[in-house]
Amino acid sequence: MPQASTTRWSNWAGNQGARPARVVAPASTAELAKEILRAAEEGHRVKAVGSGHSFTAIASAQDAVLIRPTGLTAVRELDRRAGTVTVESGLPLATLNRLLAAAGLALTNMGDIEVQTVAGATSTGTHGTGRDSGSLAAQLRAVEIVLADGTVRTCSPTENPELFQGSRLGLGALGVVSALTFGVEPAFLLTAHEQPMRFAEVLDRFEELATVNEHFEFYWFPHTELCSTKRNNRSQGPARPLPPLKAWLEDDFLSNTVWDGACRIGRRFPAAVPAIAQLAGRAWSERTYTDAAYKVFTSPRKVRFIEMEYAVPRDAATAVLRELKALIERSGWRISFPVEVRIAPADDLWLSTANGRDSVYIAVHLYRGTAEQGYFTEVERLMTAHRGRPHWGKLHTRDAEYLASVYPRFGEFTALRDRIDPDRLFANDYLRRVLGG
Ligand SMILES: Cc1cc2nc3c(=O)[nH]c(=O)nc-3n(C[C@H](O)[C@H](O)[C@H](O)COP(=O)(O)OP(=O)(O)OC[C@H]3O[C@@H](n4cnc5c(N)ncnc54)[C@H](O)[C@@H]3O)c2cc1C
Repeated sequence: MPQASTTRWSNWAGNQGARPARVVAPASTAELAKEILRAAEEGHRVKAVGSGHSFTAIASAQDAVLIRPTGLTAVRELDRRAGTVTVESGLPLATLNRLLAAAGLALTNMGDIEVQTVAGATSTGTHGTGRDSGSLAAQLRAVEIVLADGTVRTCSPTENPELFQGSRLGLGALGVVSALTFGVEPAFLLTAHEQPMRFAEVLDRFEELATVNEHFEFYWFPHTELCSTKRNNRSQGPARPLPPLKAWLEDDFLSNTVWDGACRIGRRFPAAVPAIAQLAGRAWSERTYTDAAYKVFTSPRKVRFIEMEYAVPRDAATAVLRELKALIERSGWRISFPVEVRIAPADDLWLSTANGRDSVYIAVHLYRGTAEQGYFTEVERLMTAHRGRPHWGKLHTRDAEYLASVYPRFGEFTALRDRIDPDRLFANDYLRRVLGG
């Protein structure tokens, strides 16, 4: 068993921290089960963490036994006939993408980054944008999970289906996931077409752009009329990646190093933010490239920020976005980070932000250390007026009462939790707030 130690944990954004009672890194499901039983016997709670990329305190292991993901990273099985890959829960998505690519396979859809662990990403409903394909959790075919009593359960649509419904997007509230089986498909290329567009045009054409393209998203730069749109569609090839120097210059140097400098100036001199936004909005030029899907879906994000993201019903999205723009314009806030807008089809995961309804994600960000100015508070008021559902890993202030009113299957999840974790071994303050005790 790896040596236990105690250290302070903090998340990627640096806005959440915890001092665990003990930190362990089990190297097998059996070791994980032993650690869970030991913690329970000692009266400690248990919290598994991924890569710490949630902005909320969902992964906080304050006074608990913190389970590190580093020992559980094996690939268990790649079943080409079934079109599945089974991996341990701590495997980073980036590693999964590369090993799938080497085998000529790929995940169907992804979020913006690939540094999260597979269990960390799926547990909060991490998503990208997609007309037909949903979140990472929606791509799961089976889950192996260790429960509070130390039992190891596997579940799928046909085996323990209720547990499967809950645990593929379980917020870490039902147990510690030890392995996940994803559906995979033959590797494919995506052609990305990035194009600057005016806000009014994007909204007027939103339904067309979201329907015609397999993966449509856009960024709007507050204090301007400027948007950067991105359309990703499958391609027969050939691959035409960006030349390495151009890719580094635009996706790393400009998007990270220069952008970080611009945000610092905006934080220090808020009056400069509208001018910075104009420059940033214009810096995004039109470009087209074709590459392996995971390289098109994801890019490095080095500038530290905090984020709130709500899923609203798709048919309300353009009205919400117009209200959001009007809100920012009349507020006097200075917002340097663009607003990101993505799409998801309805799915059936109990706690998915897209459960039972076609959804549009609207995400607002603040550069680290920027005064909140009421931005997140007012945006949240707008989103909740439209029955918005907050991303579980991004900042929000909702409680169980509100969440029960916008998730039709919320009661089934909490009933399952009551049955399999009655003593709340896997609870923390965040889960008590959002799930109600
Ligand atoms: C720069 C950046 C970009 C992002 N981009 C996107 C995006 O494009 N789309 C999107 O939807 N989100 C995005 N996010 C949010 C992020 O994907 C989620 O918050 C995700 O949950 C983080 O994964 P993680 O591995 O860091 O998990 P953590 O944040 O460490 O943990 C998240 C949850 O998973 C639980 N967990 C971890 N491992 C286990 C396990 N083995 N068993 C049970 N529970 C477990 C934890 O207890 C916690 O509840 C982004 C975040 C950042 C910082």
